Amino acid sequence: MSNYFFTDEGSDKKVFKEQIQKTLDVLEQTYDTPKCYKGALPEEVKKEITSIDVLPDEGMGFDKALNVLKEKVLPYMVFPPSKTYMAHLHSPALSEGVVSELIIGAYNQSMDSWDQGPAATNVEIHVINKLCSLFGFNNGDGAITSGGSQSNLTALFLARDAKLADLGFDAKHNALGDWSKKLVCYTSEISHFSFDKASHLLGLGYNAVRHVKTDSCYRMDINDLRNKVETDIKNGLVPFAVVATVGTTDFGSIDPLVEIHKICSEYGMYMHSDAAYGSALIMSSKYKNRISGIEYSDSITIDFHKMFLLPISCSAIIVKNKNYLDPLSFRAVYLNREEEEELGYENLVSKGLQTTRRFDSLKVLFSFMVRGAKGFDEIISKSVENAEYLYEKLKNDSDFETFNKPEISAVIFRYVGSSSDLNNLNKNIRHALMHMCGIFIGETETEGKTTLKTTLLNPRTEKKDLDELVCKIKEFANKNV
Ligand SMILES: *Cc1c(COP(=O)(O)O)cnc(C)c1O
Repeated sequence: MSNYFFTDEGSDKKVFKEQIQKTLDVLEQTYDTPKCYKGALPEEVKKEITSIDVLPDEGMGFDKALNVLKEKVLPYMVFPPSKTYMAHLHSPALSEGVVSELIIGAYNQSMDSWDQGPAATNVEIHVINKLCSLFGFNNGDGAITSGGSQSNLTALFLARDAKLADLGFDAKHNALGDWSKKLVCYTSEISHFSFDKASHLLGLGYNAVRHVKTDSCYRMDINDLRNKVETDIKNGLVPFAVVATVGTTDFGSIDPLVEIHKICSEYGMYMHSDAAYGSALIMSSKYKNRISGIEYSDSITIDFHKMFLLPISCSAIIVKNKNYLDPLSFRAVYLNREEEEELGYENLVSKGLQTTRRFDSLKVLFSFMVRGAKGFDEIISKSVENAEYLYEKLKNDSDFETFNKPEISAVIFRYVGSSSDLNNLNKNIRHALMHMCGIFIGETETEGKTTLKTTLLNPRTEKKDLDELVCKIKEFANKNV
């Protein structure tokens, strides 16, 4: 029988330590290639995983179960720290972030009330205050969330209720009625799908999200935004928010923040910046000016599990004005009694959508302290420089077509050497790289064409690694795989 917990008792501590050591040994043995994947095909992975008896009658104990993981699960993982892993906005996890996960798990604090995490509550508040000051919010507030999608849902919810409150309607206690047919918001045609989902969840539906055209640099077209807002107003609708994307998922393009802010002020709309990707530029002394104007937003989504390289999950929503969080407040007699809060027991349950919530702010605190502003400056600037290098290289090679001059670290391209079916050729190149070389790049569709994509996040990646990628692509293309 395994022990139950890590406790104050010596025997529990000893068993826990041994378990950690054995786990480290297994990690060391299974992480044994510079490639990001060992090449198994989907059916092979499925076969191994489904051969596991999920709930045996008699437990097999720690050692045997760990061995099953070692044989059947870990060999089919991808290794995000590998230099050949560049498909998605899915980052390697900084080692102090992984160590934080151990602390988070061992202490298992929860963020909903002070008595479930006295230090944790204060760490989160302290971290949120730092984020607010980094982004120029002097009277700001916010919360750590599970990811950009949740941060965006929260933002759209706050924006909707702020607008309705301005119009004298209490959306907390009343059904939306006719408002559900009138409220509309705006985001670019290449913004993240979480806003469509959020609008659906908020009772407004996909149709309430107006998809504004983008210009030749994949940024929101301000004239189209203005036209759409004016048309909607003429038709008796109520525009309540504009969502600027600060780093689109595919291109890393950044919407014109200052102009969007002007239009928001003019028409009384809330401005949210979805900076899940691009928020990290705030740490780069060389590139932070690319997101200037973000301080005009009413709220900002920040993902720490993307460019900041912290383990999943870790995101934040910050708001310019503390009062924006009012729609989230709720009194539960068993959690956040008013008289307790007057005594200084702060309960964060009133700042987010979740109740029980992980102590993810520890990862931010720890890694910020470990590396400092300079350490993050290096990490983020390096990825942007790598993207610039790869883009220039591809642009100057007639075998490739490029689309976006990267503003952050995503590069979209496609192979255009000889083939009658370029879409298929590019798809095949990606599959060949994945299963024959353990190199992962992304595939997407750009202007109706199948394109390839690299999202560079790894500070270990050097120019020669990018040269090698281009070589491999040409090699496969020439074999016409
Ligand atoms: C990744 C991403 C999201 C979604 O964030 P998750 O953390 O994956 O939920 C939202 N917006 C943009 C621009 C993104 O790149």
